Amino acid sequence: MTDLSRKVAWVSGGGTGVGAQIALTLAEAGASVVISGRTAKSLTDTVSKHANIISFQCDVTDRIEVDVCCKHIEAQFGGLDIVVANAGATTSTLFSQTSQSDLQALFNINVLGVFNVWQASLPMIKATENGRMIVIASTAGLKGYAYVSGYCTVKHATVGLTKSLAAELSSSNVTVNAVCPGYIDTPMLDRTIENIMEKTNCSKEHAESALKKTNPQKRFIQSTEVASAVLWLCDNHSMSVTGQTISVSGGEI
Ligand code: NDP
Repeated sequence: MTDLSRKVAWVSGGGTGVGAQIALTLAEAGASVVISGRTAKSLTDTVSKHANIISFQCDVTDRIEVDVCCKHIEAQFGGLDIVVANAGATTSTLFSQTSQSDLQALFNINVLGVFNVWQASLPMIKATENGRMIVIASTAGLKGYAYVSGYCTVKHATVGLTKSLAAELSSSNVTVNAVCPGYIDTPMLDRTIENIMEKTNCSKEHAESALKKTNPQKRFIQSTEVASAVLWLCDNHSMSVTGQTISVSGGEI
């Protein structure tokens, strides 16, 4: 079993969905976990689930707030071993109706947010024995999907960032990887389903079944499956795994 006692982890977007599950899984493995996000209520809900989890309110698109969060982690724990850049968002629009500001907003949260969290935590991560940098990208970072060209664009960018940073840090004690799930059963998926129902006037069952068809196993991924992949990457024995995209998608890609 992976033992993360004496390790410190930061999970951005840890108040809900996949991030909350990753925080819980790392805490159950013994890590001290800091979760961040903008909404106090969801952060408090996740903190209440495990004594090893604390929270810090922080918008990852704001570098000053991210730097303050890092200072807080350093002051509280003296360092950081694992950083999971999980915070992200999606929208679904025809390419022809996607505005520059839509794309900019997607870039800000999904790329600039990852850049900020990783760059601000890098000095602490490099100072540890076994540093781990992980981004929750998506199968949308590995292939294209209709109606989400903006999201696919920015998730591909996070994969590029992952591979470049892994190469840059290859002679260090740090690994850098992207976990790429297919559709996961989370609040984000609920919003996607509602959007399809509203735009196409179809039933919930029809919208769900259209999305499940993308997965060869014809089901939604569970947050626990994504968290297990993250936990494996955090293991000391995963040191050789770096610069990789780990697909958690039922064989979709
Ligand atoms: P959720 O919407 O449940 O979680 C997203 C989290 O990110 C929230 O906790 C949110 O908190 C946080 N967040 C969003 N914007 C910001 C911001 N500017 N600053 C700080 N935190 C922010 O979605 P999921 O759990 O599904 O998504 C987690 C990750 O998984 C995302 O990167 C997503 O792209 C990826 N993913 C999701 C898939 C899915 O089908 N659900 C499939 C593949 C990948 P708050 O709003 O309080 O700030």
